Amino acid sequence: MAPAQNQITSKHVAVIGAGPAGLITSRELRREGHSVVVFEREKQVGGLWVYTPKSDSDPLSLDPTRSKVHSSIYESLRTNVPRESMGVRDFPFLPRFDDESRDARRYPNHREVLAYIQDFAREFKIEEMIRFETEVVRVEPVDNGNWRVQSKNSGGFLEDEIYDAVVVCNGHYTEPNIAHIPGIKSWPGKQIHSHNYRVPDPFENEVVVVIGNFASGADISRDIAKVAKEVHIASRAREPHTYEKISVPQNNLWMHSEIDTTHEDGSIVFKNGKVIFADSIVYCTGYKYNFPFLETNGYLRIDEKRVEPLYKHVFPPALAPGLAFVGLPAMGIVFVMFEIQSKWVAAVLSGRVTLPSTDKMMEDINAWYASLDALGIPKRHTHTIGRIQVSSSYSE
Ligand code: FAD
Repeated sequence: MAPAQNQITSKHVAVIGAGPAGLITSRELRREGHSVVVFEREKQVGGLWVYTPKSDSDPLSLDPTRSKVHSSIYESLRTNVPRESMGVRDFPFLPRFDDESRDARRYPNHREVLAYIQDFAREFKIEEMIRFETEVVRVEPVDNGNWRVQSKNSGGFLEDEIYDAVVVCNGHYTEPNIAHIPGIKSWPGKQIHSHNYRVPDPFENEVVVVIGNFASGADISRDIAKVAKEVHIASRAREPHTYEKISVPQNNLWMHSEIDTTHEDGSIVFKNGKVIFADSIVYCTGYKYNFPFLETNGYLRIDEKRVEPLYKHVFPPALAPGLAFVGLPAMGIVFVMFEIQSKWVAAVLSGRVTLPSTDKMMEDINAWYASLDALGIPKRHTHTIGRIQVSSSYSE
């Protein structure tokens, strides 16, 4: 990725999403001299951090006709990364002691994160680039490397426009991944995915099984344990014999290996041989990548959570640099990653930096896949670079 000798050019760029990735990307694109339009289907900036007590109309989010919400944030959520590691490098996430409504803790609540994102948008005047309540419904390449973007506003009005480039920042914690459990079709209890979990109250006095023990599973199981009779975590990362009591004030939380079978009498059998009669199952089993608006004639594929082919998780070689993704990898320190990825995209689009040839990018991608295979890392963790760098993920 050598600096290019070309003349620097300004491009007309569409950014999809005004969550942290879209806001940071649009700032970097404008700094590089591009003209930017940000499409955001909600009424405000913040993406996932805009908490709502509402959830999808289907608690498992399986029904394609369900009404949907974007956010997966629950009421008690505090950051699992210290604020020093969350901010953008030239706009740190500092505690605000001048305002009583702010949360100055190192691991603040979700409202404080939204307030920081709003501060960022205000400071860098990002809102003037955003079309709120406008959903991108179709993106496709057209002749001479341009891109057609079709969007729909709140009045249902469809608009077709041509851009030089599109940067996708639509987030990837909204489309639930549901683990398949033997016997679940006839299991009679309640089932919900963590995307639709907000508060523990509905689980009062219940016996609850939480599937998954990464960030969300670990957090939500403790939240529910405050009101439930018993909470049992099923973790496929644990040895089959695992059965441990976890220390919580209510003395009602256990860790098991994964579920073996479920039955119509309400019982759940774990691989450790324990049998629990449960009222509810909460799936903390992660999310799927989803780009329902993208039409690339089959070039880009999603296979077991691998979006392929993507050079350095950002550029699809044959469609680069007109199409780019910012924010795909799952890792602990994401805002700085958005900043670095979007600086790169902006510089490639202006011609200040050149990409390798399509063949060279494909070679690099195939070498990356081979190195994951050699390390025994499953395909579904292709973009979980946090697994390789630091151990942190909100999904499975
Ligand atoms: P999002 O925040 O999801 O924003 C995407 C935006 O795109 C949304 O506003 C959406 O409305 C919009 N959009 C989507 N599709 C369209 C479309 N077709 N047209 C127009 N607009 C569209 N990160 C941390 O740094 N610290 C944490 O403590 C932390 N905790 C987390 C806890 C949970 C439970 C989860 C699920 C994630 C957490 N994360 C955390 C990661 C979090 O996802 C990122 O902080 C960040 O919100 C990702 O930003 P994003 O812009 O990529 O996506």
